[in-house]
Amino acid sequence: MGDARPSGSERWPAGYRCALSVTIDVDGRYGEANYRPADDMYWISQTAYDPRGTERLLELLADRETFATFCWVGRAAVDHPMHVRSAVAAGHEIALHSWDHRPYNRMTPQEQRADMEQSLEALQRISGMTPVGHKTASWRYDEATHRVAQELGLLWVMDEPGGDLPYLIQPASTFPPLVQLPPSRWFDDYTLFVDHVLPPRHAFELWRDDLDVLRDEAGMMCLTLHPFVSGRPGPSRTLAWLLDYAIDLGDVWIDRADRMARWWSGNVGDVPDSV
Ligand SMILES: [Zn+2]
Repeated sequence: MGDARPSGSERWPAGYRCALSVTIDVDGRYGEANYRPADDMYWISQTAYDPRGTERLLELLADRETFATFCWVGRAAVDHPMHVRSAVAAGHEIALHSWDHRPYNRMTPQEQRADMEQSLEALQRISGMTPVGHKTASWRYDEATHRVAQELGLLWVMDEPGGDLPYLIQPASTFPPLVQLPPSRWFDDYTLFVDHVLPPRHAFELWRDDLDVLRDEAGMMCLTLHPFVSGRPGPSRTLAWLLDYAIDLGDVWIDRADRMARWWSGNVGDVPDSV
């Protein structure tokens, strides 16, 4: 794919060589609770840090005047609505991340639709915004997930690491295509600080090297962070250093996922059949 793509200088808005999307998944206690035994308080209790971590990440982003996307589990938003409103007031995007973090690939299409609708309604009511993006909890999606996202009129999803650029997908030909923004488990703080406990400096070096290559290639980096992980004191430095590094480069587009998805579908796009 890609022969008809614009060159790097035309791929992103004028003055930018690559894109860096910071997405923060606010799972509350529901992420760990779905994957651990109900009495495993050692793990589940770690997520009690989520509200404090959210505050630290909001401060870190505000200090750098950068905008991020918060993918909010519906029940976690209901638990701490003031944090949702703080994120909106600071100019960040609010996106869907399921109602209670159950894996979609174990649900029927009807259950997935009901789950997404319930999340959409709750986030709309709390934030006053209409979410246009969705990241599937734990990336456990199936062939129905993106069709449901299309039916609900969403603009973007962030589930499939199919490259270093966004691309259009259109599982249901009767609905407009979605912009698929590429995540990666190597851009996920859970991999670096939970699965493997890296020193924050090493995590920064890893992501800086990724960003350098993607900048050379006019690519896109989509970070997936969690308040109870990257919002902790040391790991928060990794994000701070990466943002400072990217800002100093002067040509990295750091913005909300919805703006990048709109740019891509309006200015670059792809014919879905060619992907
Ligand atoms: Zn999650």
